[in-house]
Amino acid sequence: MSVNILRSATGADGTRIVVNENNYAKGLATPVRYVKGVGERRAEQLARLDIHTVGDLLYTLPRRYEDRTQFTRISQLQSGDFATISCAVKACDWVKSRYGKPYFEAMVSDGSGIAHCRWYNAHYLKEQLKVETALVIFGKVSKSRGRISFQHPDFEVGEKGDEESLHMGRVVPIYALTENLQQRSARRIMWNAVNAFIGEVREILPESLLDRLGLLPAQEALSTVHFPETLARARAARYRLVFEEFLCVQLVLVARKIHSEQVLVGTAHNIVGRLKDSFVDSLPFELTGAQKRVIEEIENDMRKPRPMHRLLQGDVGSGKTVVAASALLDAIECECQGTVMTPTEILARQHYVSFKEYLEPLGLRVLLLTSDLSAARRKEVLPRIKDGWYHLVVGTHALIEDRVQFKKLGLAVIDEQHKFGVEQRGELYGKAHNPDVLVMTATPIPRTLAMTLYGDLDVSIVDEMPTGRKETVTRVIKEDQLPDAYGFIRKQVAKGRQAYIVYPLVSESDKLELKSAEEMFRHLRGEVFHDESVGLLHGQMPSGEKAAVMDLFKNGELDILVATTVIEVGVDVPNATVMLIENAERFGLAQLHQLRGRIGRGAHKSFCVLQGSPTTLDSWKRLKVMEKTTDGFVIAEEDMKIRGMGNLLGREQSGFPALRVGDPLGDSDILLDARREAFTIVESDPKMTKPEFEGLRSRARALYKLVGPFVRVG
Ligand code: ADP
Ligand code: MG
Repeated sequence: MSVNILRSATGADGTRIVVNENNYAKGLATPVRYVKGVGERRAEQLARLDIHTVGDLLYTLPRRYEDRTQFTRISQLQSGDFATISCAVKACDWVKSRYGKPYFEAMVSDGSGIAHCRWYNAHYLKEQLKVETALVIFGKVSKSRGRISFQHPDFEVGEKGDEESLHMGRVVPIYALTENLQQRSARRIMWNAVNAFIGEVREILPESLLDRLGLLPAQEALSTVHFPETLARARAARYRLVFEEFLCVQLVLVARKIHSEQVLVGTAHNIVGRLKDSFVDSLPFELTGAQKRVIEEIENDMRKPRPMHRLLQGDVGSGKTVVAASALLDAIECECQGTVMTPTEILARQHYVSFKEYLEPLGLRVLLLTSDLSAARRKEVLPRIKDGWYHLVVGTHALIEDRVQFKKLGLAVIDEQHKFGVEQRGELYGKAHNPDVLVMTATPIPRTLAMTLYGDLDVSIVDEMPTGRKETVTRVIKEDQLPDAYGFIRKQVAKGRQAYIVYPLVSESDKLELKSAEEMFRHLRGEVFHDESVGLLHGQMPSGEKAAVMDLFKNGELDILVATTVIEVGVDVPNATVMLIENAERFGLAQLHQLRGRIGRGAHKSFCVLQGSPTTLDSWKRLKVMEKTTDGFVIAEEDMKIRGMGNLLGREQSGFPALRVGDPLGDSDILLDARREAFTIVESDPKMTKPEFEGLRSRARALYKLVGPFVRVG
């Protein structure tokens, strides 16, 4: 799935659809196997890379380039250089080394010196390379004791600097591909595709825009990005393509935003703040400056006669729940109802507990609505939502089902966790009276990514942590250091503190995994912690039992809580100062950060111990990030850099089509340019009816079909 409409897309039912056919030139929808050089087998390889059509192929941009325009004399080569040499083979043969694999070696010369080239697993070379064969070679130079060598360099047979050459004597594209598809074949296929199909690429940007911003025309950009004359030209070409992609996304989001500001009619809440004030007064702490500021931003917005669409960002523990509760109280004060929606049932339960604690003392009625509610109970409560008896309803997005009707929904708080997509948001906006919507993220999102996912929303950031919190020190350890970690926990407990030991379950409903957590609990209680009291908490326990265990831990009757990720959100025990997370490599960084947010909440210094058995360098690097920082925004950014945007912008994750060519983190400058331009366009021509916007409008329209009903562009 992709924002770039030149791509095919997979529909919700799994069938492949070609997006917006009239705009999608027929040629680009051609199956990729019709490209010269792509047979059955290659087509299968490409399909695994999610490349099905010619359009998919052409919009697979090079990951980087190598400048092979300049030849270097062998005598001038420096160790570590990437260099191109033009030379002839002087001797070559297979070498069976005493250690390791046999390899093919060629000794080459250009008259100024000699270099040795080695290739492993290259049986075809015996046929291709003979004494006196002319060669152009590109690769990384290594020089040791005066001997110059290349390991597995790229090469091309023929006269030097052959003009037609795809692989040498030019700026050469390098694609991010699997092992099976060689760069040389990929380049050849791409060359054929560009030559045969570039004429099918349509220009959708207005000429005035191209002129004003100095952008390359569409066809030129796409052929240049694959086969540029210079690196500077490659950059300009890529800029144009990424800009176009971001612009289409931003047009949809900006159009939504402006539409909701100028056209939609919502409720103007006449907030006095009576309920909110008594709530805030009842809290055992002062609100932070950031909380006060954000509450005011929200109230100002809720007073307006248009629906609020706002994103509430803040690091774990910054106190977003208090802010959300205040806003809900403001809505309730104005004779409206509120709702809190979460992506999972567990989260719904946790929020229910927190909000009940905040609201019930004020005489308000809170309902938890989940899918496991009995039919009888459901029949009983639905009318009570409709007649306004319940002030607040907490539940999963089952809440947006049609049969759940409110008397008057004033504010919907959506706890997003990246899982609540643009589409579901759209459905909610359709609910009666255009309620105000506050989207709350559980983990911070870097600014430019937020613009891509939530660019239709205003943003409030709680950018200050409550005072009096002590720092949390984090250490990554290996499995054999676990006994030390247990010893450390004992010492902390002896000082009166409490500890969490978190066990990774991929899924809370997995019976087998649950069993291993239970076994671990018995092992810890029976054999490791003799003098400490140990409890167990997991998602499968009946809620009464769960609550009982939590109470014991809160009251200090349990020293150690062995738990699954159910404690990720909402659990709040300031006296708990240690968290040991076993097999931490199985969690994402954002989740680790969220878990770690359960400690460091009191007046004592806290310690997070991550036991990992990472199998790759990347997963080790990820864990080490946790040692370096406790700033959720930094962690989110690192996580995305390491895991790649693809995973985070995947459709199931975010509800938003994945980007094909742009990366909101790496290309943040282009994103900002595109967003600015989107505002200029929508403000000058809100429905984009000018003929010059025809191409952009139909692309944005196709995109908007993908992200659900909200506002019609045009
Ligand atoms: P978030 O949802 O942003 O992770 P919460 O709203 O759950 O954070 O708050 C985390 C903890 O901090 C809760 O125990 C809450 O009572 C407490 N808290 C919230 N605001 C403040 C504040 N201004 N001062 C001290 N503690 C606060
Ligand atoms: Mg919270």
